[in-house]
Formats: sequence, C-alpha cells, structure tokens
Amino acid sequence: MPHRLIRRLMKDTDPASPAARSAVGAFAGWVGIGCNALLVAAKLMVGLMAGSVSVVADAFNNLSDMLGSLVTLVGFKLAARRADPEHPFGHGRYEYIAALSVAVFIVVVGVELGRDSIARLLNPEPVSFSTGGLLLLFVSALLKVALGLFYRGLAQKYSAPSLRASSADSFNDVIATGAVLVGAILSRFAGVNIDGWLGLAVGAFIVWSGIGLVRDALSPLLGESPDPELVRRMVDTIKSHEEIISMHDLIIHDYGPERRFASAHVEISGALSAQEAHGVIDAIEREVLRQEGVHLLLHLDPVSTDAELGKVRARIQQGVKSVDERLSVHDVHIELSDCVTYYFDVTVPPECTLPADELKEKIRRAVETASPEPVKTVIHIDRFYTTF
Ligand SMILES: [Zn+2]
Ligand SMILES: [Zn+2]
Ligand SMILES: [Zn+2]
Repeated sequence: MPHRLIRRLMKDTDPASPAARSAVGAFAGWVGIGCNALLVAAKLMVGLMAGSVSVVADAFNNLSDMLGSLVTLVGFKLAARRADPEHPFGHGRYEYIAALSVAVFIVVVGVELGRDSIARLLNPEPVSFSTGGLLLLFVSALLKVALGLFYRGLAQKYSAPSLRASSADSFNDVIATGAVLVGAILSRFAGVNIDGWLGLAVGAFIVWSGIGLVRDALSPLLGESPDPELVRRMVDTIKSHEEIISMHDLIIHDYGPERRFASAHVEISGALSAQEAHGVIDAIEREVLRQEGVHLLLHLDPVSTDAELGKVRARIQQGVKSVDERLSVHDVHIELSDCVTYYFDVTVPPECTLPADELKEKIRRAVETASPEPVKTVIHIDRFYTTF
C-alpha cells in the first residue's frame, strides 16, 4: 500500500533516483511523526493517570523519536538554503547541527527520567492502572510493530540505511513498551510494583540511544573520511584522461550533501603548453562537477620529459620503496647548482606509524646511498587525507 501511495505522491517512479528517495524519506518521516505524536499523547495520559514513571518515560522515548524525524525533515529544508555572503559554503551542515542538538536533548531527558525513577525507588508510591490504560498500552505496542514493519518494507524496496535504522529502533521501542506493559499488568493483578526499576531501564535506554545519535551527528561535523566509492569514481574519472600521468594529494571537504569541495594534484607532461594543460584540467574539473556534484580544483605538476631526470625519479622511487613498500613519491624536481639537490614529496599511509623525522632520515639515507653522485635531499612528508 505505501508504495502505491508514494508513487502517486511523485512523478518519478524510479526507486534509485534521488528525487524518489527524498520523497520516500519525507513520507516516512511524516508517518513517523504522526504515529509517535499519537503514542506520546496516549502514554502521557495513561502514565499521569496511573502515577507511573515508567509509562511517562516510555512516552518521552517516543517523543525523542518524533523529534528525530522532525529534525531530519526540518534540517533538510534548512540545509537546502542557498549560500549567502557570510556562509559561502551553503548551509548543508545545519542538518548535522540540528541532529546534534536533538541528540543532546534526548540524553538530558533520559538522565532526568533516570533521576525521577531513582527518586521513585527510594520513595515508592502506588501505581493504579485502569483496564482502559492497559488496553491503550497494548494498542500502542501494536502501533509500533506496524510502524517498524512499514519502515522495513520501505527500507528493503529503496535500500535506505536510515529507514532500516528507524525500523530497528521501532522494534526496540516495542520491547520497551512491552516491558512497561508487563510491569503495569503485574501491579494491577499481582500487586507487585516494579515501576521505578522499569522507569530506570527506559531512561537508560533513552540515554543509550541518545549517545548513539550524538556520535552519528558529531562525526560528519569533525570531518569524516569520504565515501570510498566516491573517491574511486573520482580517481577513475581523473585518470581516464590520457594526459594525466598520475595524481596525488586528493582532499575532499564535506560541507553537507551537494556541498562538497575537493582538491588534487595531477602530473601532466611538461611538454604541454600552459594553455593546453589548463584545457585538460578544466575539462576534468567540469566533468567531476557534473558527475558527482563535487567542486574539484586541480593543481598542475608538470613532469619533465628529460630521460636523465626519468632515471633519477626511478632511483628515488626505488630508495623510498626500500624503506616501506606502502610509501609513494611525487613532485620530484632537481636543482643543479653547486651541489645536486633532490626535492620530492612522500605520501605516507595512516598505517605507517613511524614519526615523520625518523621516516625522513631513513628515506634520506636510502636515496643518498642509491645515488652514484653526492646529493642533498629535501623531503616533504604528505599526510594521507584520502586513501585511493
Ligand atoms: Zn603535487
Ligand atoms: Zn581555469
Ligand atoms: Zn604532495
């Protein structure tokens, strides 16, 4: 049923298209907000009437889900705002900041509920559930099951990880509500009061999921490793141009979806004129923008076609590789004044933990002994921002 509804809501029926995916995301978000609003109202009513902290805690658990969906939808709108003079990179990171604020709020709510529950454990108060209240709790657990199945169906059809996470979250909520319901039934029919303990458990559950959300929101703000698939496609595109001999120092900055900027160095034959070389990199930059939506800036490293220099490059390469197979060399140039000096960059992968000074010293010795004439070396170590 939802698939047909979504198809009617949008013209685009290709499940892989970005338009279809964002329409599905928005639809799922609004359904989640509607269901959770109902659950919050029902549980707050039951919880306050019965004097039960665990049911109130469960209501706040659903409220946190509702806020999460709301933030995704509103964040999406804010993030789409155009760049202005103060924010030339646009507002894409609003989405992450909005998510972070809600996540922090959820943690605080969880801690508060835990505190209330501990107070209730120290000063137990009787809880009294009406049959209607128990019934309402049971129906709300069923509603969450339905919501979880709804998310799972969409997640499978559109292979959306965020919807799969929502589905898993819904089924966890069913367990929480189920436990609260069992507690309510015990108090009603067996006179056993475990309300405080259940409230504490639900509070802990809320804190735990809030911490997960904080982590998810923080990671892109700090700057994540770019998606390896994106990196591979960009490298393939750049290298598909036959004028490009090799590339290095690729860095991708993410200011939010569709707000990505990148820079990279490309080696091009020094025999090309500046005019021709510029034409090549300009074409690549435009191609990457069109294909990936990434604003790429290329730096040009001209490579000498001189045969003698070619031999020196090979020798340096050999010396560096003898220190560590995973190292690679670029930007080699040679100065022939009173003393021969080799200038070159070495890219170091993150697995290579040797301190830069020690590494430089090893490379210097390897290259200088491999050279038939006395040379000086000036080595620059490049940090590995992007693996490819
Ligand atoms: Zn370079
Ligand atoms: Zn240009
Ligand atoms: Zn470099």
